[in-house]
Amino acid sequence: MSEDLYAMLGVSKDASQQEIKSAYRKVARKYHPDINKEAGAEDKFKKIQKAYSVLSDTDRKQRYDQFGVADDSAAGNQGGFGGFSGFEGFSSNFEGGFEDIFDTFFGGSGRSSSRSSGIAGEDLRFDMTISLEDAANGIEEDLEIYHLETDPNSQKKCGKCNGTGSIKIIQRTMLGSIQQVTTCPQCQGTGGVERKKKKKKINVKVPAGVETGNKLRVSGEGNQGVNGGQNGDLYVFITVKDHKYFEREENHIILNLNLPFTQLILGCSIEVPVLNGAATLKIPSGTQPGTTFRLKGKGIPNLQGYGRGDQYVKVSAQLPKHLNSKEKDLIKQMEQMRGEDKVRESVEEFIVK
Ligand SMILES: [Zn+2]
Repeated sequence: MSEDLYAMLGVSKDASQQEIKSAYRKVARKYHPDINKEAGAEDKFKKIQKAYSVLSDTDRKQRYDQFGVADDSAAGNQGGFGGFSGFEGFSSNFEGGFEDIFDTFFGGSGRSSSRSSGIAGEDLRFDMTISLEDAANGIEEDLEIYHLETDPNSQKKCGKCNGTGSIKIIQRTMLGSIQQVTTCPQCQGTGGVERKKKKKKINVKVPAGVETGNKLRVSGEGNQGVNGGQNGDLYVFITVKDHKYFEREENHIILNLNLPFTQLILGCSIEVPVLNGAATLKIPSGTQPGTTFRLKGKGIPNLQGYGRGDQYVKVSAQLPKHLNSKEKDLIKQMEQMRGEDKVRESVEEFIVK
């Protein structure tokens, strides 16, 4: 799930539809199974087709751009990235580690290359924990974030660069004088502009189908850039809480039921919880422990916007530990009727093969 679709086609993240199309044609031709007989070419061809189907579709592309990857290991397991939550990290440390990770996961953000002048604002991280129900239904929430904004009132123009953030150096060489523009050493390119921590409310729509490890990018809501530098982005990292009884497997929901053995033998009709209410499940007579029933379409919607998972109900049998004398008599009668009381010379017939 975490493959970089852009890299697969060999295009950059900000490639136009035309560029995506022509890149697709090129790589598709290269790996077409009729042409390329190398091992793995067909696999690669299929992946390329899938990548193109996403990137050529404006809606799906946008969703992919927004969520990038669905990789659980992205958030917590990266070295030196564990301890952050909320907006604690305005240190330069944080900034460095952060950009590294996003370069990895977003295949190099287009922003750094298009950074022309000034100092770009840093990306920020916000951790959001939601319930499984909210992950299944989607949720809209106002987040209160803190980011750095430039403060026009406190602007102290740097005297060395006159507030431009850069200075010209003229070097005389044998070939004549060469003019070089470099970052102002006095203000490190800020031109003297100060940034202040400001609280801001940001409305975030978490779409149905998200899972732990998904990130939402809120463009331009990171720290503000200085001197014409672009603003950083805000990344909302999603964590989906464990449910008290549902388990999630991709977009499927699993519910385990431990039913009285009589219900499995005789059959029954029971109401089981599903994500948005309840559904009736018919247990046929003679159901074996370990049987799984499927409630079609009762799972979680696909994040890409098509289809949804199912709910699986797995049943096991509750065997009574204690019986009263009347119950014991009945079971003994049954044992005799079924001929299960006789002494057997071999257990052959009970061995599970
Ligand atoms: Zn300066």
